Amino acid sequence: MQCYADVVFNHKDGGDNVERVLAEEIDWHNRNWVRSDKHEIGAYTHFTFPNRAGKYSTFQWFWWCFDCVSYNADTDNTNKLYRLRDKHFETEVSHEHGNYDYLMACDLDSSNPFVRGELQYWGEWLISLSGINGFRIDAVKHIRSSFFGDWLHQLRTKFNQEFFSVGEYWEDNVGLLEKYIRDSGGVMSLFDVPLHYQFHRASKAGRNFDLRAIFEDTLVRAQPFKAVTFVDNHDTQPVQSLQSPVEDWFKPLAYAFTLLRKEGDPCVFYADYYGATYIDEKPNRPPQGPFQSASHSWLIDKFLWARQAYGYGDQHDYFDHHNTVGWVRTGSNEHPGAMAVLLSNGDDGYKWMNVYRPNASFYDHTEHITEKVITNAEGWGKFRCKGGKVSVWLQE
Ligand code: CA
Repeated sequence: MQCYADVVFNHKDGGDNVERVLAEEIDWHNRNWVRSDKHEIGAYTHFTFPNRAGKYSTFQWFWWCFDCVSYNADTDNTNKLYRLRDKHFETEVSHEHGNYDYLMACDLDSSNPFVRGELQYWGEWLISLSGINGFRIDAVKHIRSSFFGDWLHQLRTKFNQEFFSVGEYWEDNVGLLEKYIRDSGGVMSLFDVPLHYQFHRASKAGRNFDLRAIFEDTLVRAQPFKAVTFVDNHDTQPVQSLQSPVEDWFKPLAYAFTLLRKEGDPCVFYADYYGATYIDEKPNRPPQGPFQSASHSWLIDKFLWARQAYGYGDQHDYFDHHNTVGWVRTGSNEHPGAMAVLLSNGDDGYKWMNVYRPNASFYDHTEHITEKVITNAEGWGKFRCKGGKVSVWLQE
């Protein structure tokens, strides 16, 4: 088992002291539009870490470590953007809102050599202290794309380790994800956000969604070796900032599409595995909920086991019907068992698929169907699944 650290390098929040600094107001929706002359504000940009007392780092952060803030302590105002004196937005970032360098809180100026130096020092300290094996990197669309090439390269060279890394670039647009992979020199994988939205839309559309198109315009199809596939996450679940949940009935199908195929590095969401119950509490209104999501651990465990024991060899697709699609894994020398997966978002389905195992017996690992499938003399079997469900057929 390996352990990855979740690192947030775009912004810092909760400074210790206010600093007096000149700033100009920037339009929220068009970040290239300056809305005021420079005037003095109170910026919470001085981070002294009094309790750390210099133990792990003596670095203090000042206003010049940041580009832009959205809180003015003079007016207690959080609805304006203040770009700090002499600062510019990074250009190697998402072009949403004209320029999407700023997301929230105090936005780091990653062009500043002291900031870059401290982040490098911090990365080395974190690895030495914790022995982590890689990173989940937050909000990369708001950070200059060349930054992590340097940061990861130095860590990989110094420690002579791979440090598998995956970035969160939140965009339902595979072209922009591919552009980021190019711009960042391929130093990290990205979460397959377009695939998540395909799952979300498919779960809403029911039988009207054409399952043959489930991987259209996804990262796992375009760049399978750079795609971390997932079904839902902490941002997409109900009442979160990017809520776009995959409906419950579709989750087993979505997990089959991520865990049982050759392409992509799949990721299981805690709440999908263990289930979750939570209340949404915000100021000035009654709490809402409870919101509940079901545990799918029983099926996910079966898929994980099937992946480990049968997820090998070539993959042959049978994406030839609007509602019922399937695929076959043919196994390898070390893992000689064959696997056939069939799923439907409509009626009960069946499909003839060639598993290259003549006169062999297959059982449905999901236990949805109790009858076995016996392949014919040419290795073809008539595999079945229930409507709206997935069956995973394993060679006995
Ligand atoms: Ca930024």
